[in-house]
Amino acid sequence: MNYQRFFEDAIDQLHAERRYRVFADLERIAGRFPRAVWRANGRTEEITVWCSNDYLGMGQHPDVIAAMQQAAGGMGSGAGGTRNISGTNHPLVELEDELAGLHGKEAGLVFTSGFVSNEASISTIARLLPNCLIISDELNHASMIEGVRRSGAEKKIFRHNDVAHLESILQAAGRERAKLVVFESVYSMDGDIAPIAAIADLAEKYNAMTYIDEVHAVGMYGPHGGGITEREGLADRIDIIEGTLAKAFGTLGGYITGKRSVIDAVRSYAPGFIFTTALPPAIAAAATAAIRHLKTSQAERDAQQRQAAATKKVLAEAGLPVMETPTHIVPVLVGDPELCKMASDRLLGVHGIYIQPINYPTVPRGTERLRITPTPFHSDQLIVELQAALVETWNALGIPYKAKEQTPVTRTERVIPLVAPASGG
Ligand SMILES: *Cc1c(COP(=O)(O)O)cnc(C)c1O
Repeated sequence: MNYQRFFEDAIDQLHAERRYRVFADLERIAGRFPRAVWRANGRTEEITVWCSNDYLGMGQHPDVIAAMQQAAGGMGSGAGGTRNISGTNHPLVELEDELAGLHGKEAGLVFTSGFVSNEASISTIARLLPNCLIISDELNHASMIEGVRRSGAEKKIFRHNDVAHLESILQAAGRERAKLVVFESVYSMDGDIAPIAAIADLAEKYNAMTYIDEVHAVGMYGPHGGGITEREGLADRIDIIEGTLAKAFGTLGGYITGKRSVIDAVRSYAPGFIFTTALPPAIAAAATAAIRHLKTSQAERDAQQRQAAATKKVLAEAGLPVMETPTHIVPVLVGDPELCKMASDRLLGVHGIYIQPINYPTVPRGTERLRITPTPFHSDQLIVELQAALVETWNALGIPYKAKEQTPVTRTERVIPLVAPASGG
């Protein structure tokens, strides 16, 4: 067995399928979001980030940074151990209270990431329920799929947002069998929203438990940032609401909220919660500051929606293939993995604009895209510059689109070497 060769082949395979991932070397600049420093081949350049999940720029909010600094200064950098060993740092107690309140639930439980919260919670809930059937939306996030797998429970996949298909599965399972319906509110790649009320109706009718991932909605929707379930007055009809602290809340960590009994069971049985060191107190304090700010401040949500709408409009005016979405997510279709990667490279190298390519398996083949996430900090001027850069890129690479009659954008190209993928050896 030539071990080295085995791993090299695995990587070569990704290159051959155009799926090899290259991460840009970026340094975010607090106070000047979405600007960042990009380093490549010994060169340094300032660029604009257009695909950050720091959706509201809370990662640079003065209250959030101050809370983090203060907690680190007062309590140190780390948590000191698992909660089982070291107890719960007080900022984490406050954070869990805050989260339960945000969603109007009895209790909350924080994990080291949103990924872990999904994997640990879904697998534990379904494992505890006798003969549980997990019914999962086909476009659910990888972390939910891992939770489903790890549970060992039987699973059925329903077509994306298709309530009729969901009902046929629920009906076949019958009212008596334990059932867990897992889905998201805002799907991050298409930017569409689940029919939450209809799913809650069905869950009631067939006596199923419901688990929603509100990762791409918390902080951004609802009068207090409680997500789509808050906006639509449906939080009390969903058993478990899961979210992240790492996107709109600008820090790190994930959580679930729900009835005390379920939360306590996950706390007590989930290895992914029990056997890992808790979040540092500074992170917990910063997350609480972000949540509290967004509970009362509507300004960030309004500005995000305004800039997202403006971006969609300005890009569509140039004939660019902007996918329709009812959310802040602005996908622009490329439809080819190679072109998608080339477009991303060109935007960065020539225009100083960072938008990571989204290829299979994150999205189905043939729907490769650039996923743009305007924030309150993407000004109208930046939007116009984005339009020009995309038009130039689409023209230069010959990506098909309905180009409007307009004078082609001519910009002096700065010749900057692109990041080369590591060679397979
Ligand atoms: C990002 C993401 C997660 C994971 O959250 P992290 O806090 O980044 O680990 C979970 N669900 C969805 C839908 C996501 O997009």
